[in-house]
Amino acid sequence: MSQATKIFSQVIKEGRKALLEPEAKAICTDYGIPVTKFKVASNEKEAATFADEIGYPIVLKIVSQDIIHKSEAGGVLINLKNGSEVGAGYLKIIENAKRYKPEAKIAGVLVQEMAPQSTEVIVGAIKDPQFGQTVMFGLGGIFVELLKDVNFRIAPLTSEDAKEMITDLKAYPLLNGFRNSPPADIGALAAILCSTSRLVMEHPEIKELDLNPVMAYQKGAKTVDARIILE
Ligand code: ADP
Ligand code: MG
Repeated sequence: MSQATKIFSQVIKEGRKALLEPEAKAICTDYGIPVTKFKVASNEKEAATFADEIGYPIVLKIVSQDIIHKSEAGGVLINLKNGSEVGAGYLKIIENAKRYKPEAKIAGVLVQEMAPQSTEVIVGAIKDPQFGQTVMFGLGGIFVELLKDVNFRIAPLTSEDAKEMITDLKAYPLLNGFRNSPPADIGALAAILCSTSRLVMEHPEIKELDLNPVMAYQKGAKTVDARIILE
């Protein structure tokens, strides 16, 4: 059984609909979608040990089935530079989560590699009642929320479809070396779209998927947040 199948059946067995970020990222890894290195810590000492292994700077995030929007809950701390910042950060995140939602069930704190800043893109998928699994691509922030500059394609995608979804965006020049910014690795982004298509086709129980954001680099790309919701 694949790692992805195992995780999905465990989540269903526990009666959950939303996967935790580490679960969603493990599934991404199974499908060849690049994600930040991570480990789940259950105390401050463990968090610091994992941070030493992963390397600094570090990002910490709350892992809770009851907290979907982590930053809203004070559940994301970025740019922690050493073990003592990570230890203190661990306690801060737990405290914030408890204040935000006292009844929240906390599974631990995710210790992860901090991805260098770059152009942020969004990869999504939704199961459309009429068309079935559909993949989405757009640029992060205002481009999706305000300008609605996103492209959808019904899965399965060919690599041609995936490339078009990127190059057809109005904001495409921003990915293609606008002014002083270096061009993004379109091939790497298209590969993530194709892998996402394969994932949702092979797992029709996925209702929604959100890789938001994915950092687009000159060479490669990296998913820093992943959400998967089941039917
Ligand atoms: P939320 O549940 O609030 O969407 P995210 O995991 O997306 O939480 O974190 C919020 C923001 O923090 C992201 O949009 C990104 O800008 C930044 N961020 C999160 N994780 C990382 C990381 N590993 N490396 C760099 N930036 C990160
Ligand atoms: Mg996010």
